[in-house]
Amino acid sequence: MRNFEYYTPTRIIFGKDTHYQIGDLLKQGNYKKVLIHYGSGSIVRSGLLKEITDSLDTAGVSYVTLGGVVPNPRLSKVYEGIRLCREEQVDFILAAGGGSVIDSSKAIGYGAANPWTDVWNFFLKKKTPTDCLPIGVILTIAASGSEMSSSAVITNEDGWLKRGCVKTDLCRPKFAILNPRLTYTLPQYQTESGCVDILMHTMERYFVNLETMEVTDSISESLMQTVIYNARILMNEPGNYNARAEIMWAGSLSHNGLTGCGTGGGDWACHQLEHELGGQYDVTHGAGLSALWGSWARYVYKENPERFAQFATNVFHIPCGLDFEKTALQGIQAMEDFFRSIQMPTSLHQLGLDLTDSQIHDLAFRCSFEDTRTIGAFMQLNMKDMEKIYHMANA
Ligand code: NAP
Ligand code: FE
Repeated sequence: MRNFEYYTPTRIIFGKDTHYQIGDLLKQGNYKKVLIHYGSGSIVRSGLLKEITDSLDTAGVSYVTLGGVVPNPRLSKVYEGIRLCREEQVDFILAAGGGSVIDSSKAIGYGAANPWTDVWNFFLKKKTPTDCLPIGVILTIAASGSEMSSSAVITNEDGWLKRGCVKTDLCRPKFAILNPRLTYTLPQYQTESGCVDILMHTMERYFVNLETMEVTDSISESLMQTVIYNARILMNEPGNYNARAEIMWAGSLSHNGLTGCGTGGGDWACHQLEHELGGQYDVTHGAGLSALWGSWARYVYKENPERFAQFATNVFHIPCGLDFEKTALQGIQAMEDFFRSIQMPTSLHQLGLDLTDSQIHDLAFRCSFEDTRTIGAFMQLNMKDMEKIYHMANA
């Protein structure tokens, strides 16, 4: 087991009706002006925005609002938010939405608190932020885990680059309100894409080329089984509270660092490969991940077939004999069968893309930062490897 630090400062307020506490929570924090940041309208239609503003009005907390965050959130909206924070002297950002809104809030928080540089420099990893406005979350989709994470991902329309910020604890939300009922209004495609992202946050940390880690592995395996079981239930019963609750809590635990304790940080190649699809083709993050994962897994599993065999046996109950490679491939197949069972794509075609050789070359060129970096830990992938994986997914 590798050395690690584990720090998860976010206060979780979980359960039915918890979002009504928002006014009191902000009043207790003594914030002077709150920015309520949200997406393209789902919280207006569901009535959540009105419930939030009613709660703040009752508590006597001042606020301004900024909606319009889109999936694969944009840098131009971040700049708009930074300007608004400065003009209105905002001292707290409330993200009401999913990963896109939370990440946009984190970027605004960094930009507003670090006027000495352009916020995009943090995403180019040229500079490191020294401060961030405090952030709180009311979560409306279980997926990104951004409600407890130290990361943020933003797309710059100038070149359509989707990039992750330098990771710091400064942007970890002070609190996150998790009311599973707020996810009932999600379209099925978003619910299931979210389940894939949750699985992937665990798998990215699980597939490392290390020896077995009993505690961390068994937490990860149980999280994966929980998500698989409940994602299937939600295909038929979108209003099943317990299934929504299990998925929501699994989403936070999958990305707050717990499943990475001792794993040396994780692999993250699938996320890097997917970010290029998100930036270039605006695909839904979880769906992009399921379209790539099987190709990545088949490309890399021979590095450590025992690890994939452990996954097959402990997550999918596939008996493991002495032929680890066979069991590994059965496990990969089982995960892809699961993705299909929740109507998630297992190829780029099923994602609605039909890429030419030069488009694939361009994706790999961008993902490798113009052939200057490798990605992945289970197996280090250079630009040629990336191109091959995109081709396998495109076949
Ligand atoms: P999202 O992009 O925030 O939202 C997806 C869609 O679901 C939006 O169209 C949104 O509509 C809708 N929606 C959200 N809640 C809803 C509800 N309760 N009812 C109806 N519709 C609802 O989804 P996400 O998967 O949470 O976030 C994806 C982003 O997070 C990606 O950019 C990904 O790269 C990033 N990410 C970040 C981290 C991290 O740690 N920072 C980790 C993984 C992924 P509205 O806009 O109208 O609300
Ligand atoms: Fe993700």
